[in-house]
Amino acid sequence: MEDQFVATEADMLSLGERLARAFVAGDLVLFEGELGAGKTTLIRGILHGLGWKDAVRSPTYNLFSVYDTVPPVLHADLYRVANTAGTGIEDYLESHVCLVEWPKALEGVVDLDDAKRISIAFEGDGRRVRLSNINL
Ligand code: ADP
Ligand code: MG
Repeated sequence: MEDQFVATEADMLSLGERLARAFVAGDLVLFEGELGAGKTTLIRGILHGLGWKDAVRSPTYNLFSVYDTVPPVLHADLYRVANTAGTGIEDYLESHVCLVEWPKALEGVVDLDDAKRISIAFEGDGRRVRLSNINL
C-alpha cells in the first residue's frame, strides 16, 4: 500500500505516466473515489504514458473505450451500471489492461482478488492517492 499527496491536475497526469509501466495485459485496476476525484485524469496520464496521443474521453455513456496501445487498454466507467452481464467487458479481461472507474458492478461477476486498486480522495486543494497491489 502506497499513499501520496497529488497537488495538481498536472501532477496527477505525471503520476499516471509513471504508473503506466506497472501494468501488463490481464491486469484489472479498480479506481475508487467520488465524482471529480480525478479518476479519469489519472487514467488519461496512464494512456499518455503508454504513448496514446489523442483524446481520452470519459466513457460514462458508452461504458467503455478500447485503446490499441502496447499493452492494449480498456477504460470503463460503470457509474450507471448495476451489472456488467452483457456489456462485453469480460471479453477484454485477459487481453487488455482493464482500468475501471466505479467498479462496484464487477463484484460477484469478476474475480477481484488479484485486482489492483487505486483510491483517490479530496484533500485540501489536492488529492490523496492510495495504490494497492501495484509495484512501481
Ligand atoms: P473523476 O473521473 O474521478 O470523476 P475527473 O478526472 O474527470 O474525475 O475530474 C477531476 C477534476 O478535478 C478535473 O476537473 C481536474 O481539473 C480537477 N483537479 C483539481 N485538482 C486535481 C488533482 N490534484 N488531481 C486531479 N484532478 C484535479
Ligand atoms: Mg471519471
